[in-house]
Amino acid sequence: MKLQPARGTRDIFGKEARRMAHVVQTFKRIGVTHGFEELSTPIFEFTDVFKRPLGEASDIVSKEMYTFQDRGGEDITLRPEFTAGVCRAFISNGMTQNLPCRFMSHGPAFRYERPQKGRYRQFHQLNAELLGPDTPEFDVDMIAFAAHILSDLGLSQRVTLNINTLGDGESRALYRENLVDYFKSHKNSLSDDSKERLTKNPLRILDSKSKDDQAIIAGAPKLSDHLNEKSCDFFARVKAGLDASSIAYTHNERLVRGMDYYNHTAFEFITTDLGAQGTVIGGGRYDGLIKQLGGTPTAGVGFAGGIERLAMLLTETPKAKRLTVLMPMGDAAMLVGFKVAENLRRAGIAVATDRSGNLTKRLNRASKKGASHVVIIGDNEITAQTAQVKTLDTGDQQDIAISRVADHIKFTSTGENP
Ligand code: ATP
Ligand code: MG
Repeated sequence: MKLQPARGTRDIFGKEARRMAHVVQTFKRIGVTHGFEELSTPIFEFTDVFKRPLGEASDIVSKEMYTFQDRGGEDITLRPEFTAGVCRAFISNGMTQNLPCRFMSHGPAFRYERPQKGRYRQFHQLNAELLGPDTPEFDVDMIAFAAHILSDLGLSQRVTLNINTLGDGESRALYRENLVDYFKSHKNSLSDDSKERLTKNPLRILDSKSKDDQAIIAGAPKLSDHLNEKSCDFFARVKAGLDASSIAYTHNERLVRGMDYYNHTAFEFITTDLGAQGTVIGGGRYDGLIKQLGGTPTAGVGFAGGIERLAMLLTETPKAKRLTVLMPMGDAAMLVGFKVAENLRRAGIAVATDRSGNLTKRLNRASKKGASHVVIIGDNEITAQTAQVKTLDTGDQQDIAISRVADHIKFTSTGENP
């Protein structure tokens, strides 16, 4: 039996677990201030939920999905992203009558990719969707929400916001035609991947990382020259809203997002600190998605962030809460200890009980763990209704009435674990 986790998956614990938890807590706390409520969708869905909206030619559908038949013969896919599942849930639960809807979610997502730093096969995303409004000011709201998370994580200086517009359907169709003509005239110099995209998903060629393609891409027609008036106006209002919110951005005409369902606004917060895995949060507008899934046409705009990538960027690891270690010495103390531990915990103190070995051994273990206090209860203490409380940072040790132990610990606490 192999005892390693499967390729591209990891066990998450210790500092990394604390960092990731901090990212999620920050996301949820800020989400509440933006009016978002939590929505949790299943980790797997019928394959069609992802296949149609994301597009057969998208990287995700064509080569990254974990798809299988379950024992009942259903065609199932582990979620590679959240948006399609959230929109499916919106339709399934008849939420169309209650617009706008603001949903935030987080959890694992799965993509069959080549694992590397910041790229895994099971990774974790935070995700927010705003369903209903189709006006550009709401795109600004969503970008502001994402920017707010980054600033609370202390990452504002390390990321840049790239925005682009993909225009509406009409503008895109016209652009697509011209783009295909252009790339066809350079077909022989294109990378193999891009040759394939030429028929399936030509816009994605713009996103190619291949060196060969770069020179050709540089000369390609620009979407901005193909936008109709409506699309231009939409984008102008997004930019005006960002300016009014003092959110700095770069207009990156090469920014196209991987999924087919986007229209109008696309945005990415990018860092140069994570090598090729530089996108930490990406999102955009997807007004056609809910209709495509079979729901009443409803506009939507959202974003997803990579929790691992955000956690990697944090400059500080949140501290674990320091423990008080309770040491009952002897059988009678063991029983009294249950009550003492409960009282301390109800007072908000983190308590772990060490029940084995002599006192020296237990004290060594407690200081190794970075405990703040130890509480020793023996036969003498039970008679006197006291406990010996030792403050490990100072070495101070006192007999304290059991009813006052919690107060004493709080009073002598010096904060968090170093
Ligand atoms: P990339 O260009 O890095 O492949 P993407 O465009 O495929 O990213 P999205 O589908 O927009 O990514 O997902 C949103 C976010 O989820 C990304 O910005 C990134 O932070 C994170 N993410 C995507 N794929 C992975 C992965 N395999 N491992 C870790 N994080 C990921
Ligand atoms: Mg990807």
